[in-house]
Amino acid sequence: MTDTFDNRYRSAWAGLARAEHVGSRPRVAGWVHRRRDHGGLIFIDLRDREGILQLVFHPEEGGGAHAQAARLRAEDVISANGELVRREQGTVNPELPTGEVELAVSGFELLADAQTPPFQIDEDDPVNEELRLRYRYLDLRKPAMAQVMALRHRVISTIRAKLDEQGFIEVETPVLTRSTPEGARDYLVPSRRQPGSCYALPQSPQLFKQLLMMGGLERYYQIARCFRDEDNRADRQPEFTQLDVELSFVEEDDVLGLCDRLLPAVLAVGGIEAPGPFERIGYDDALLRYGSDRPDRRIPIEIADLGGVFASSQFKVFAGALAGGGVVRGFSASGDFPRSRFDALTERARALGAKGLVWGVVEPDGWRSPVAKFLSEGEIAGLLEATGAEQGDAVFVVADAATVAARVLGALRLEVGVPRAGHDLVWVVDFPMFGFNEDEGRFDALHHPFTAPSGDLEGDPGGWRSRAYDLVMDGSEIGGGSIRISTPDVQARVFEALGLGEEEAGERFGFLLEALRYGAPPHGGIAFGLDRIVALLAGRDSIREVIAFPKAASGTDPLTGAPAPVDERQLRELGLRAR
Ligand code: ASP
Repeated sequence: MTDTFDNRYRSAWAGLARAEHVGSRPRVAGWVHRRRDHGGLIFIDLRDREGILQLVFHPEEGGGAHAQAARLRAEDVISANGELVRREQGTVNPELPTGEVELAVSGFELLADAQTPPFQIDEDDPVNEELRLRYRYLDLRKPAMAQVMALRHRVISTIRAKLDEQGFIEVETPVLTRSTPEGARDYLVPSRRQPGSCYALPQSPQLFKQLLMMGGLERYYQIARCFRDEDNRADRQPEFTQLDVELSFVEEDDVLGLCDRLLPAVLAVGGIEAPGPFERIGYDDALLRYGSDRPDRRIPIEIADLGGVFASSQFKVFAGALAGGGVVRGFSASGDFPRSRFDALTERARALGAKGLVWGVVEPDGWRSPVAKFLSEGEIAGLLEATGAEQGDAVFVVADAATVAARVLGALRLEVGVPRAGHDLVWVVDFPMFGFNEDEGRFDALHHPFTAPSGDLEGDPGGWRSRAYDLVMDGSEIGGGSIRISTPDVQARVFEALGLGEEEAGERFGFLLEALRYGAPPHGGIAFGLDRIVALLAGRDSIREVIAFPKAASGTDPLTGAPAPVDERQLRELGLRAR
């Protein structure tokens, strides 16, 4: 309970008072959480960061404390001293960690008056988010928020301790820099001294951490702020925090091994037991079995390839798909499936780009399905066996291009499956290097252009694989990284495959290509979304709940009013004019 600071306001944390401190005479300070007047006694629940302690004011206590206390209102700031006593039998509050004790106040000081807050701090009733953010400093006073902030701190300090042990050093990288391509739009900061030029805020420290490896720092980490200007992406923040890591002289096993040791310690902070090493599955395998490169394996459904079963099918839909180079895949699921649900799922499949959805139910007297008559007995038996369908289960089949089948079945799997309790962590490895961007008719890097490619680099870049890896927890990607390119010629080839001409590559990334010519160690790393991990551990749906001062969903800050118009003079200095 004792605090390291012992001054006129406080000698001890109110929220840490326990029975073992009975008899001590602490001075405590904080906010009036609640006041109750009761049979001549006044009770104040005093709140500090550590919790809530009941203060009792007796009318007979001298110094006028009781009379003054009668005027206290919620959120007034006070300091009080007295004797810590055991609560009387029957008044012990088992809900409160301090519930066995109370402070019999002998003196107190009012340090600040509070206006009536716009929402109550002592209640957990839902408050409109805009209002919470507008008065975030009041929202943060809520004990639940204080606990989340403390949890976040413990996560970060655990990370620091674990990485320290393994020889990592924390290095800060610039916030005013050049564009770092992670696939989002940049935030730009116009330069006053170079009119017409802008700094970009980093989407990640990617290039700097690689340059640190070329600078011989060997093992780097940073709790790094990243900035990405994205529209309409659920639960994203314009600025967010990554645990960013990079190591020299390593291969995949080293980076994954590091995380297999680190993550269990981090998750344990939130009481989640997840012993490493985490299983690894290949990207192709993940797409086939789960229809996603972020598989939620808590759902006990796996997609089966049915190409073999329907290889010589007379059913046009299946035969046509297979003849056209497509696939026939499906899964079975248990649950309640009235006709209306099949119709809704068929609609969903169409909306996701499938031509249709074949479905059926395993009934005691056979297989009931609108397409039953098109399938042979052998095919039905093969289908049920391959999908593991049992009596009463529904079966879903999609015949389409492999990407469509994966997307549709992956989404339906999430929709009809019920996740088991607990958590699942899995590495997805062996990604393709590029995805084809249909809209722009060119390749995009699936991770980023600094990821080392693998496979036959003389062949079609569309067939290159990459040395990237993602860590997926319960169906969300919580971290991702790669072994990097460490020679200038391979880096140049990747730029070329991405359609970056030599000139443009030189213009944007000349410094990297140059640095690679001065002896770059083999290196690789990873970054974890820290906000998402803390949200998960805190059992919160949104990362806004675990960031002290987040932006609203619209990207604005209702508290400070950011972003705000700037005056003419500032714009002029920057050589800008608002349209
Ligand atoms: N910079 C990457 C990202 O932000 C992570 C990494 O490759 O280390 O996703």
